[in-house]
Amino acid sequence: MTTALPPAYDELLRRCRETRLLASCMSLLEWDERTYMPPAGAGHRAEQLGQLAGMVHKMGTDPRIGELLEANRTAMRGLEADAPAAVNVREIGRGYDRARKLPQELVEEIARTRALAESAWAAARKASDFAAFRPWLEKIVGLKRREAEIVSDGKGDRYDALLDEYEPGETSAELTRLFAGLRDELVPLVAAIQGAARRPDVALLERDYPVETQESFGRAAAAAIGFDFNAGRLDVTTHPFCDRIGPGDTRITTRFDPRHFNAALFGILHEAGHGLYEQGLPGAHFGAPLGTFVSMGIHESQSRLWENLVGRSRGFWRAFYPKAQAAFPAALGNTPEEAFYFAINDVRPSFIRVEADEATYNLHIIVRFELERALIGGELAPADVPGAWNEKFRKYLGLTPPNDASGCLQDVHWSGGLIGYFPTYTLGNLYASQLFAAARRDLGDLDAAFARGEFGALKEWLAEKIHRHGMRWRAQELVQRVTGEPRSHRALIDHLRARFGPLYGVA
Ligand code: ZN
Repeated sequence: MTTALPPAYDELLRRCRETRLLASCMSLLEWDERTYMPPAGAGHRAEQLGQLAGMVHKMGTDPRIGELLEANRTAMRGLEADAPAAVNVREIGRGYDRARKLPQELVEEIARTRALAESAWAAARKASDFAAFRPWLEKIVGLKRREAEIVSDGKGDRYDALLDEYEPGETSAELTRLFAGLRDELVPLVAAIQGAARRPDVALLERDYPVETQESFGRAAAAAIGFDFNAGRLDVTTHPFCDRIGPGDTRITTRFDPRHFNAALFGILHEAGHGLYEQGLPGAHFGAPLGTFVSMGIHESQSRLWENLVGRSRGFWRAFYPKAQAAFPAALGNTPEEAFYFAINDVRPSFIRVEADEATYNLHIIVRFELERALIGGELAPADVPGAWNEKFRKYLGLTPPNDASGCLQDVHWSGGLIGYFPTYTLGNLYASQLFAAARRDLGDLDAAFARGEFGALKEWLAEKIHRHGMRWRAQELVQRVTGEPRSHRALIDHLRARFGPLYGVA
């Protein structure tokens, strides 16, 4: 059964697509800025981006969109909530309402402060000088609290208003419950692994791994899991990312360390996982919510699934270790597969989040989530962040950061105004495990398939169950539909026990 859609629907979609087309030009300029632009081009590039950002903002907040949304909301009443047109109207409305609520003056002040705070943060981190960053953190927290107050209309948990930008429909009350369950099982698991007598020899990952060979090996791995190089690229940056310019053009980046095996290969698998999601979104809906990813958490679930659930599995290395030995004969020629497998699955509490292993990573996130929630709630003053950070870090990871550069100053997020973003990393890990467990139920022995170098069935399963639907369902509903179960921390804990239990000899 089809319902005729009003002309206002076509106009709304056309405007949405036009805005997205212009925004995608910004993506291309940003990609170029981070890969090939000569340093002296920075000033002109900032002007180009500023000009385009203003145009995109104006198009996206045009009062005509408000009128069109009004007309469409009435017309959508007879439709199911997840009917394609209803989804597009719901999600366009969500973005528009949020953008319209924020006064231009606040948006501009946040943008200005971010730019200054990020350079102040970079200098403060370098000198491990929290006092130098403190006034900027106070300013950012103050601005974000104001934003939260306005977006929430002064109702409910203010943090939710910030979270909603990255994870539509999410609430901090539910996250608190979800993360507490995870934390309570993770802390003793990590402690048990720490106390284990068996340790991997991680020095074998720190041998000579020529960059050119790493690159061809990484490209082969990305192609094997299904990243389409005819519709994508791999380039080099300092901070790796994935960005889709548009249908047929998804770009991933990585960085190489000639003396460490992990960063490039697992980074490539991670970004290729993001890339597979972008390549699997329906191009016909480009610019509309139906052609857009669900949330940052679901996006991260796709990268983590390929990086960790697949990329650090026995099956994957059954297929790839002989290739790795052939590619890096000096480093790995005489190293048994088992020693290599144990080394890439090293678990040990450490200070820096981006270098953390699968098991301890989420404890880093929980520390940040608890702190930023308290900052926005007003229970924690920015000046008290270093003390609160170190206390939680000791409690959850058993370590005390030697200085603030290795503690509360390590991430760029807060200086960039990204408060409410951190929890999406852990959501990604939880969703990845839950989705992978469901894929295994549907597809049978995936490890055996990986050992034969076959990844197509999993890629197709993800495309069919997740990628092709765009924003049709919110994250929690999507996970429930695909797995048949409500989201929980169970699958992640089961996965970590199954992987690390036998390696470290802990239950
Ligand atoms: Zn990611």
